[in-house]
Amino acid sequence: MNLHELARHTAQEFAKAYGRPPRWLAAAPGRVNVIGEHTDYNDGFVLPMAIERYTVIAADRSAAAAPLIHLRSTSPGLDAKLPAREKSGDLDSGGVAIDLRQPLKPWPKGSWVNYPAGVLAGFLARGTDPGPFDALIHSTVPLGGGLSSSAALEVATATLLEAITGQKLDPVEKALLCQKAEHEYAGMPCGIMDQFISVLGQADHLLLLDCRSRKPELVPMTDPSVAILITNTNVKHELTGGGYAQRRAQCETAAKILGVPSLRNATADALERAKPKLEEVVYRRARHVIGEIERTVHAAAGVRAANWPTVGQLMYASHRSLREDYEVSCAELDAVVDIAQSIGPGGGVIGCRMTGGGFGGCTVALVETTAVESISRKIAADYKGRTGIEATMFVSRPAGGATVLKP
Ligand code: ADP
Ligand code: MG
Repeated sequence: MNLHELARHTAQEFAKAYGRPPRWLAAAPGRVNVIGEHTDYNDGFVLPMAIERYTVIAADRSAAAAPLIHLRSTSPGLDAKLPAREKSGDLDSGGVAIDLRQPLKPWPKGSWVNYPAGVLAGFLARGTDPGPFDALIHSTVPLGGGLSSSAALEVATATLLEAITGQKLDPVEKALLCQKAEHEYAGMPCGIMDQFISVLGQADHLLLLDCRSRKPELVPMTDPSVAILITNTNVKHELTGGGYAQRRAQCETAAKILGVPSLRNATADALERAKPKLEEVVYRRARHVIGEIERTVHAAAGVRAANWPTVGQLMYASHRSLREDYEVSCAELDAVVDIAQSIGPGGGVIGCRMTGGGFGGCTVALVETTAVESISRKIAADYKGRTGIEATMFVSRPAGGATVLKP
């Protein structure tokens, strides 16, 4: 389903649920990070792109007498067994009502309503009140698949609220408001990447984002001969011992010993000089972060210059570093990268790496557009052969960010 078809489908679902066509349609994309992993909380760079998968919200003024916001989601994968509170209110099934006469507060942890409700809370806090409305959400971003359906939902909500109120937020303020919704309502202490790219993405561009200054820079990727192939390993290994928090702490330790506010301010030379003072594992964690920040900046320059072999090598180097120094890969991610690398430039694969936090989830590959079919077939078959698991794959060009489809 392309964006146009998704919008039409969402409008139809809205009409089915509420008995009239929607007045507004707003959309926001999911994303994939091309390079720059575990750099965000070290004040480093990330290089994501918006993908051709969107969350669309259809809405209209409420017909009800009471000041209520009705929310429904027909998105595939959303658990049919919604928490009891989401079935209450005056809606028959699967929807919720937010009463604007009551102070807004988070829904129970794990409820999907926290994402739109958190964004609504952000608008209300800045004095922007949309008033009552009915809304229906549908999405082609897989939920919980590491492609940031959560940011897509937040940013689509914010875009809808802009359309309803006629008040456009500054894009950076909008992204930060959505991040705050994820922190305070969904209880997820995420960085700034997902919301920034979903707001600021542009077709045929990656986004080089400086997580220290929060300065975004669009990087043109107009060459139609290359595309991004995303492979979901469809595994998610649960970590015991808090792998993420532990790595964050190790980075902080390294920065402290190096005498810098964050690893962004450290150099590879300084790290080598300090090596005797560092625990071996802390040294390797820091080596990943410092190297990855440098690779991300180089990759952005490579994309600008359409120097694909260089970008591809940086992606493989990123994966090696994540596997060996940062130790956040897993057998399934390694299998996909290994298969991709064995297909090689002869078969149209330029580079490949794990993307996202690790321990499962997706890989991202830079491929020749004309070879997408054969590469996908080969990766799917070999991955199934090695692991017994079906991978899910799709290809995307860098897509556009949030937009109002029906003002
Ligand atoms: P990711 O962002 O990688 O997809 P998250 O766990 O951060 O994974 O967010 C997924 C959660 O966000 C879902 O479980 C659901 O609660 C919520 N969500 C995302 N998209 C939708 C949607 N279209 N409709 C309802 N809930 C959604
Ligand atoms: Mg998310």
